[in-house]
Amino acid sequence: MSTPSPSSIDFRPGELLGCISGELGLRKFIEDRGHSLIVTSEKDGAGCQLEEELQDAHYVISQPFYPAYLTRERIASAPNLKAAITAGIGSDHVDLQAAMEYNIDVSEVTFCNSISVAEHVVMQILSLVRNYIPSYHWIKKGGWNIADCVERSYDIEGMKVGTVAAGRIGLAVLKRLQAFDCELHYTDRHRLPRDVEEKYNLHYWEDWKGMVQTMDVVTLNCPLHPETEHMINTESIKNFKRGTYLVNTARGKLCDKDVIAQALKDGTLAGYAGDVWFPQPPPADHVWRSMPWHGMTPHVSGTSLSAQARYAAGVREILEHYWDGKEIRSEYQIVTNGALAGAGAHSYSEGNTTTGCD
Ligand code: NAD
Repeated sequence: MSTPSPSSIDFRPGELLGCISGELGLRKFIEDRGHSLIVTSEKDGAGCQLEEELQDAHYVISQPFYPAYLTRERIASAPNLKAAITAGIGSDHVDLQAAMEYNIDVSEVTFCNSISVAEHVVMQILSLVRNYIPSYHWIKKGGWNIADCVERSYDIEGMKVGTVAAGRIGLAVLKRLQAFDCELHYTDRHRLPRDVEEKYNLHYWEDWKGMVQTMDVVTLNCPLHPETEHMINTESIKNFKRGTYLVNTARGKLCDKDVIAQALKDGTLAGYAGDVWFPQPPPADHVWRSMPWHGMTPHVSGTSLSAQARYAAGVREILEHYWDGKEIRSEYQIVTNGALAGAGAHSYSEGNTTTGCD
């Protein structure tokens, strides 16, 4: 898939764009086209600025990293709303069922940060398996505690690694791990072409619950939608081989948070890492902040400065298409004309997963 191709851009790649002051580099373009741009982070709680602006907004652009949850109630309160655009990948912060019913188009910049995330996944797998974070902390504390550092440290060479979904991110993770001589497994509702399986020596599983029974490392790379919401729960965690490392940069709500915390305490999981939570931002007392053997970060894997240049350009490409009356690329379409379409039809299912975001 090619990278975004707007007619031009008004920023220098590498600038900080994915923040309030960066405005995705869009203000000049939007105002030159005769529209107004409101940028806010006041998006949570009843009566917040987002809710006020929704009363006459035509487009809502949100980053998944600090999402503006577009619930059914919010969509219903926005009579002029035409489209929700995700500056990134993953549009589950929008009630997609309500978007379909209210005929609100939903789009995202597919592939803008897939490789950025794949790099983060590989980094977090390595940091868990090699026990990097505790070792780093021994140095910060002034220590040189070799045994304490390595008592949980292994090589990933020869380990069995399985990804739940091998789309753009999942496959990129597998490709990168091939260089570490891991045994590579995947499951996906769309099987990869045979030549790809053969090239990277991939073992395909129809059922993820079967796959995880023998994996040393599991990584989740599917979108959040009704089929995958809380797929890791009290029952399904029992399928994991004892001592598995689990890395989830897909969406926090794929997992029941308390089940993960308990699995780390009782040894079902040896480590858990990722960058996605539910809701975002998570409260100060979210159990994933304090559970043992975790390597969590805030939601940052897909918003490196490299990725920001791509998703800012992609949002502009989408707006240019809307305003020039052209159809956006099918890979960018999640909901179009009241139905799942393009990447949405390929990777999501109908329904809503925003419940609980408030
Ligand atoms: P993609 O559309 O290329 O791949 C998604 C894959 O998931 C598809 O191959 C699809 O068939 C598969 N899938 C969907 N439902 C499934 C199910 N029930 N069981 C098995 N497979 C299923 O998307 P991608 O670029 O690889 O991104 C995947 C997800 O990662 C996004 O939807 C988003 O939630 C998340 N993401 C996170 C970040 C981040 O910064 N942490 C950034 C980008 C994407």
